[in-house]
Amino acid sequence: MSTVNANFASPRTVLVSGGAVKQVAALLGRFGLSRPLIVTDPFMVRSGHVNNCLDPLTAAGIPISVFSDTVPDPTDTVVEAGVAELRKGNYDCLIGFGGGSPMDTAKAMAILAAGVAAAPAGGPPAKMRDYKVPVAADKAALPIIAIPTTAGTGSECTRLTVITDTERDEKMLIAGLGALPLAAIVDYELTYSVPARTTADTGVDSLTHALEAYVSKHANPFSDAMAVAAMTLIGRHLRTAYAEPRNAAAREGMMIGATQAGLAFSNSSVALVHGMSRPIGAHFHVPHGLSNAMLLPAVTRYSVPGAEARYAQASRHIGFAADADTDAVATAKLVSGIEALNKDLAVPTPSAYGIDEAAWTAKMDLMADQALASGSPGNNPRVPDKAQIMGLYREVWTGAPRNAPGP
Ligand code: NAD
Repeated sequence: MSTVNANFASPRTVLVSGGAVKQVAALLGRFGLSRPLIVTDPFMVRSGHVNNCLDPLTAAGIPISVFSDTVPDPTDTVVEAGVAELRKGNYDCLIGFGGGSPMDTAKAMAILAAGVAAAPAGGPPAKMRDYKVPVAADKAALPIIAIPTTAGTGSECTRLTVITDTERDEKMLIAGLGALPLAAIVDYELTYSVPARTTADTGVDSLTHALEAYVSKHANPFSDAMAVAAMTLIGRHLRTAYAEPRNAAAREGMMIGATQAGLAFSNSSVALVHGMSRPIGAHFHVPHGLSNAMLLPAVTRYSVPGAEARYAQASRHIGFAADADTDAVATAKLVSGIEALNKDLAVPTPSAYGIDEAAWTAKMDLMADQALASGSPGNNPRVPDKAQIMGLYREVWTGAPRNAPGP
């Protein structure tokens, strides 16, 4: 009897090569698209990076319209503004160009625009929170072409978008085929300019995607293949990409690893790290990958007993453990390997990041509720209750494992 229960979703095509962004106009042409709205962030415009996308479109005679008001950790209000912009023009697709924030904004605009169009006249307007999990956000008003410039969230290949509810200070997970891009362009040359801090944070985000997809209760042979490939590439290239921004092999390895990690978790799931990370982002505005990195050692240490063999394999794939290591040794090396990686990547503690201890303690109860409500902790190989999640937030604050023997 088969024990596999999988539903693999991916963009219809993914162009992967250095310089692939030059093919953006040809890619639109293959789908009969010619009137894009480009969604990006203000830095991409100010720095001229967006021209990597605009120049090939202009050369092909495609009219250029840009919505560049996206913000880090995109909000429902920005998405609403984007939908208003969308309704002003006769667009036939959205191009999300940038890190996860612009790509997620484009996805959310497509989902909300479909909801606005379908809402009955005189009824309440569609809101972003109408689409948060467990709702299936399967409808999009327009197809999305995703072009990542960080390595990365993997959003170019996922059926997810993460949008902050500004009234409730909650990072909402929105999932469904409406968020899945039609096509993606994965061009590592776009990441040469990513600063070291963002290289580290986005790289740890990718590593966390792959690891969580691999140990998730929803792991399957398709997501495993992507997760293993991603862990191998990220384990090999993250430190080099951080230290040597112009290293082509490292940038390419990280870019491909990030996309594979996106495919892995989108077709499996994320788990406890992401569940606990989103509330830290919502309340303390810590970049997403950085809050993952802060949590990763403590949450991994807590979770290992739920899937020791899987965590041990992950440790070997990342390169922390040797093939000959026992599972117990390999999992110990996984936790120490992540701690060493955090040190090399200069990951601060929440306190060193500037968060106030009283504010952290006061929010722990709400953050634990929001983590549980997201559903992600339920995918973890060891499922915590609220008190355990609060204990983990406390442990991450002090930086020391609870009940650990003293020095
Ligand atoms: P980001 O998009 O917020 O970008 C971070 C910073 O890097 C910005 O200042 C941006 O301007 C800059 N930047 C981007 N590309 C650059 C480049 N090539 N050169 C120089 N600077 C560059 O950060 P991110 O980590 O890519 O995305 C984070 C967002 O993605 C969060 O909101 C997170 O919740 C979301 N996310 C989504 C998914 C998904 O599947 N949809 C998965 C993981 C994370």
